[in-house]
Amino acid sequence: MQRPMKGKTPRRPAPKRPYNNQKDPVGVYCRVRPLSCDDEECCIEVISNTTIQLHAPDGLKANRNGEYKETQYSFKRVFGIKTTQIELFEDVAKPLVDDLIHGKNGLLFTYGVTGSGKTYTMTGSAGQGGLLPRSLDMIFNSIFPYQAKRFVFKPDDKNGMEVQNQVDALLERQKRDSQQAPPKTPITRQRLDPEFADMIRPDEACKADGVDEDSSYSVFVSYIEIYNNYIYDLLEDTPTDPLKAKWNSGGTPLKSNTEIIPPQSKILREDQNHNMYVAGCTEVEVKSTDEAFDVFWRGQKKRRIANTQLNRESSRSHSVFVVKLAQAPLDADGDNVLQDKAQVAVSQLCLVDLAGSERTSRTRAEGNRLREAGNINQSLMTLRTCIEVLRENQMCGTNKMVPYRDSKVTHFFKNYFDGEGKVRMVVCVNPKADDYEETLLVMRFAEMTQEVEVARPVDRPICGFTPGRRQRNQAFKDELSRRLEERGGPVDTGELPAVLNQLLQSLPPLPPAEIKDPSDDQTLPRLIEALERRQKLKQNIMEEYNKTANLLKMRLQDMDGNIVNKENYIHEQRGKLSEKDKLIQDQKVEIERLEKNSKMLEYKIDILQKTTNIYEEDKRTLQHELESREHRLHREMSDKKRMEARMQGMVQDAKHQWEKECERRVNAKQLEMQNKLWVKDEKLKQLKAIVTECKTPEPLSLRPPDKPQRPSREKDRVAAKRSHSPSPVPTGAPVRPHHRRSHSAGNERWVDHKPVTNVDLDTVLQPNLPNAIKVSTPSEKALSKCDKYVLTHQEVASDGEIQTKLIKGEVFKTRGGGQAVQFTDIETLKQENPTAPSRKRRSSEGHGQGDENAEGGWTDVENRCSVAVEMRAGSNLGPGYQHHGFQKRRKP
Ligand code: ADP
Ligand code: MG
Repeated sequence: MQRPMKGKTPRRPAPKRPYNNQKDPVGVYCRVRPLSCDDEECCIEVISNTTIQLHAPDGLKANRNGEYKETQYSFKRVFGIKTTQIELFEDVAKPLVDDLIHGKNGLLFTYGVTGSGKTYTMTGSAGQGGLLPRSLDMIFNSIFPYQAKRFVFKPDDKNGMEVQNQVDALLERQKRDSQQAPPKTPITRQRLDPEFADMIRPDEACKADGVDEDSSYSVFVSYIEIYNNYIYDLLEDTPTDPLKAKWNSGGTPLKSNTEIIPPQSKILREDQNHNMYVAGCTEVEVKSTDEAFDVFWRGQKKRRIANTQLNRESSRSHSVFVVKLAQAPLDADGDNVLQDKAQVAVSQLCLVDLAGSERTSRTRAEGNRLREAGNINQSLMTLRTCIEVLRENQMCGTNKMVPYRDSKVTHFFKNYFDGEGKVRMVVCVNPKADDYEETLLVMRFAEMTQEVEVARPVDRPICGFTPGRRQRNQAFKDELSRRLEERGGPVDTGELPAVLNQLLQSLPPLPPAEIKDPSDDQTLPRLIEALERRQKLKQNIMEEYNKTANLLKMRLQDMDGNIVNKENYIHEQRGKLSEKDKLIQDQKVEIERLEKNSKMLEYKIDILQKTTNIYEEDKRTLQHELESREHRLHREMSDKKRMEARMQGMVQDAKHQWEKECERRVNAKQLEMQNKLWVKDEKLKQLKAIVTECKTPEPLSLRPPDKPQRPSREKDRVAAKRSHSPSPVPTGAPVRPHHRRSHSAGNERWVDHKPVTNVDLDTVLQPNLPNAIKVSTPSEKALSKCDKYVLTHQEVASDGEIQTKLIKGEVFKTRGGGQAVQFTDIETLKQENPTAPSRKRRSSEGHGQGDENAEGGWTDVENRCSVAVEMRAGSNLGPGYQHHGFQKRRKP
């Protein structure tokens, strides 16, 4: 809808329209036309009134290994082959016409391949009117009684509309009538082109609801064709070419004076409401459906002629029929259109029959035609691209530039998508197999198109006058004419006879002019006198009249002069006004520029703000991270310190413990040494005794050793030293320890401990120990099951012989739950001179080194001492050999 503005200067800031942000998707309808002949292969099936299904034709399926299957496409509505033109109109175009009448813009186009029924749908044929004639019919059915007189609305050349007063309009009407040579006969259906006649049956006529009766309406139509990306005005009066005619008459015989000048292409402009219009395009005011049809048909014919003459591919041109409806409220009296340009609302409905959407290869075009066809294809391609970009922008919130300007078709309809309006598309399809692949492309485009949304047009503001003005005015007029009729018709001659009578009465009466006898010489002179008097009077009156007339003339001239002055003044004022307008215009341009700048800056600020926000956010997170790291560092430092302190404590503790341990061990060692020393002392004492006793020999007897005293502690040891004296061991003869093997023949169980390092010596007498548990290392488990223990110990003697010793002992349980062995006997299995080496050894032992090797030199005396091997339960050292140098102790 365009709203033209007051005043002569057109460019004013676009009125702030109450934009609503409600949007509607582009309404996409699909119409399937019937096949041309019934036995043709059909590849489209209407599944429901919103869905169609495409099947690949048989040939194609075989070729592509069934790659193509059925595909379904859904639309706002699908119209099958039986759909009538009126049904289609009711659903598709009627709402658009309704909108048009209520001041809103609409765009309706047909899309499809050539032969799919686009033109049939838009224009129709005789008896089968399409959307266009039906729309026109509905418009006139709706506004017919409220139409303004011709030329009351007058298009300016900037896509706006002006209102003329009744007189100017009348003058223009008279001018036009005088120019049109034959007086215009009203167009009747009979006069119409037969192709166009009877397109709409009277019973199919429809009408819009809620038409504002207090407005006056006028319809203007224009018809353009876009071919090869050029715009042509199909309603332009193309004069015959005078130059061409001259040239023809000069050189060659004149062919005909109907030679058509190749049509001049037009350019697109944008009006103050951002609507696009064809500059200088003919807009014909039409007052009835038939007249509108007539104009359309004129354009249609011209199109056909041009196509033939210029050898064009007609299916490659787009035609756009624009119906503009101007409406303005009636004045307060309800008599005339309100003389206020600001109150004029203009809405338009574009009915577009697009070129065939098929790719160039399908039409066997060549050369120029091919190039042209390419261009036309280009415009449909641009349409597809625009729709794609729009869809992407709307769905993904992007702000990509929509390339409307790339083609005239898209540029022309730019504001329908960017601004507001209702957009509908009828996709026409021919179900024949040949079209299948093209139809697929059409379907994809159509499905995509319905995802684009267009701003819903807002309702026109209602003007402030009281409604019902037209009706009241009509009622008044009716009443007036009724009263006049009652009085016997109009009486407008009332005043004139009175003046005449007065004039007649003011004349002197004529004397009787009857001459009775030939000698009457009185009547004639009297008559002459009267006539002369009358003549005089007449002259007086004439003079008076002339005087008055002159006076009047002078007055009129004065008035004229005044008027001229006033006009001059007005002209001057207009000049000033236009200067001011120009100034305003300039300022407006400046304001626009500044606004653009400010918008740009706002945009930049916005971006910077966003960037700042991002950085701030980053900063915050980094700070946060820094803080947390510092915190962690602190914690780790304090942990470290604590750990250090603890470590130091532990080191101290360990040092302390070790010191204690060392001390304890030194003490133990000292004790042990003292023990050993004591043992040696004891042995020496015994030896001494033996030596002294040897002088008074006693019979060799084997005495059991005394009960041993344990010198576990220093004082004990001292005490033991004092209280006990070891029993003397008979020497001189080789002292043989008790052979306890005879004992082992009983029920005792033995642990037979043979270290793996032992050499198997067959020659040596082996102890016979039935039921013995054989071990290679001392095992507590084995010990727990037995009560006797024997260790087979081998060593190399000083003479190089291997000496085997059987060290026997008794097993008993310790208080700690472990097992202890108390050695009771050592048996040496070696054939030797028993005395010589042992003495040697004894001297070398001196103060008892206490090392293991010393065992090799054990004597019988030593055998009397017990060596306890104690295996403590839970000791991870394994069986610990602790040579305490205890004396043999029997189980109690
Ligand atoms: P397009 O404009 O798409 O190239 P047309 O409208 O010229 O196609 O249609 C081609 C032919 O098919 C015309 O003769 C037309 O009468 C016929 N036709 C198209 N649609 C229908 C229909 N729905 N019902 C009957 N005939 C149709
Ligand atoms: Mg067509």
